[in-house]
Amino acid sequence: MEIPKFLIERYQFWKKNTFEDYKDIYEQASKTAQKPIAMIITCCDSRILENTIFGGSVGDYFIHRNIANIVPSKDDKDQNIQTLSAIEYALKVLKIQNLIILGHSNCGGVEYSYKTFFDKKNISDFEYINKWTSCLKNSYNNIPNNFPETEKITFFEQESIKQSIKNLREYDFIEKLINENKLNVVGLWYQINSGVIKFLDNNNSFIDLD
Ligand SMILES: [Zn+2]
Repeated sequence: MEIPKFLIERYQFWKKNTFEDYKDIYEQASKTAQKPIAMIITCCDSRILENTIFGGSVGDYFIHRNIANIVPSKDDKDQNIQTLSAIEYALKVLKIQNLIILGHSNCGGVEYSYKTFFDKKNISDFEYINKWTSCLKNSYNNIPNNFPETEKITFFEQESIKQSIKNLREYDFIEKLINENKLNVVGLWYQINSGVIKFLDNNNSFIDLD
């Protein structure tokens, strides 16, 4: 095993600079239980810097990442354990009151899923990815046929966020918290090239956040 040079250099820089600046905050954080202001479920994509976008400091956001920011349906029993265990901890133990599903443009997971649903012959030998992205089947089925190809992917990305929110409500403990106004669920879609973020409004449409 070899520790990459970039890892050492970047760590040393962080330790000497950022850590020094926030030393007191880190010290305080180690003495108290975490109390995040939101849970963010987002994609594994390296271009999604949720803590940068939303000004996260130590202890602010409880993050769960998976390919294409999916919350699997209760029926997807083979797929939902990892994501749901993170949500269960966030809601039952940490009692987080804001749950954000943060999807994004140019999502490789969504695009791959689109291709596999569109053309079955296109399926690669990805045992795990294929199983995981099968969770997006319902969202795929909602894509209007008359949309241009490029808009279809954006629609699919946003539709999957809606589907994840629907899926959340299938779990009794989550549905109960929502009904008791103890949990606010937010759907966001982030466009990488423009920095635009759209949120899912009460009419089930995506609207600019600013
Ligand atoms: Zn993605």
